[in-house]
Amino acid sequence: MNRSIIHVDMDAFYASVEQRDNPSLKGKPVIIGGASDRGVVCAASYEARRYGVYSAMAGARAKKLCPKGIYLPVNMNKYKNTSKEIHKIFRRYSNTIEPISIDEAFLDITGKNPLKIAKEIKKDIKEEQGLTASIGISYNKFLAKLASDMEKPNGLTIIKKEEVIEVLKPLSVRKLWGVGPKMESELNKLGIYYIGDIQNYDPNVLISLFGKRGQEIYDFSHGIDNRPVEYNVLNQSIGEEETFKEDIDNIKYLIEYVENYSINLSNKLMAKGYLGKTITVKIKYNDFSVETRSISLNIPTDREKTIFKTSRYILCEKFNIDKPVRLIGLTISNLIYPEDPLQLSMKI
Ligand SMILES: [Mg+2]
Repeated sequence: MNRSIIHVDMDAFYASVEQRDNPSLKGKPVIIGGASDRGVVCAASYEARRYGVYSAMAGARAKKLCPKGIYLPVNMNKYKNTSKEIHKIFRRYSNTIEPISIDEAFLDITGKNPLKIAKEIKKDIKEEQGLTASIGISYNKFLAKLASDMEKPNGLTIIKKEEVIEVLKPLSVRKLWGVGPKMESELNKLGIYYIGDIQNYDPNVLISLFGKRGQEIYDFSHGIDNRPVEYNVLNQSIGEEETFKEDIDNIKYLIEYVENYSINLSNKLMAKGYLGKTITVKIKYNDFSVETRSISLNIPTDREKTIFKTSRYILCEKFNIDKPVRLIGLTISNLIYPEDPLQLSMKI
């Protein structure tokens, strides 16, 4: 049976929540996070995006582009509570829900009328939470997510089986799930720029060059994606590392690096609404040997202080640094998106 999958993506979520709760902010460039120059923008209202401000941008850069923007602190508890209410709405329509971040989820609604359900979910969210969502409807996750992005904000887009090849053909390869700048430039080297170029490419060449990924992007380019909608631990990690201009042999400086990384990792986790459980420090010595040490926390975290304290402990107690260091990295893995956002109040 053909599946019916919808992807719901809240529009400029954090910024919209702030505009909802303080009507004087409506129509204004609202930027969440990034108030300090070291901070990172977590969300920007559509008005702020017109100035070129986007999430994950450094606060200092945002302030150059939009000096008159209204910069607000990240009020995570508020967004998490709103997210929880939105998930309650989802559960009215499906038991098969896969949250992929604090403001995005897939719902499998196979056997039901997808257009009717999508309209009802949008209406419920608007009436009960005063917010807009963009929804994509299709027969798999890749296409549903692609569709939700096509008419943002407040969009409702369907990609049907009979039109999929034509819809995908003119899009950049970057629109394929998991194709980042690196993969894009690899594909460009083969003369592949658009999804249509992959549709006509020999899949065996793609597989010989990229292995499993080659098969996957060939399938995606034909609108094939059999991954189920399911709640699972995210097979992802978030990390930072840097090779120093000159080797470092003073642990004080290494601690400063992990402190900076901790701030960035915490910001990235919060921007996506994730929590992480395993913290790993990697060290490369001047002889190019590499060592890694990890600690898994009992309670997953997104807190800068917890990440820093744990990574400092790993660095000072679990390594025996006896050579100059040329690179240090910090990664947080075993990421989860908490199904029950209230779980987040249990922080360590
Ligand atoms: Mg969103």
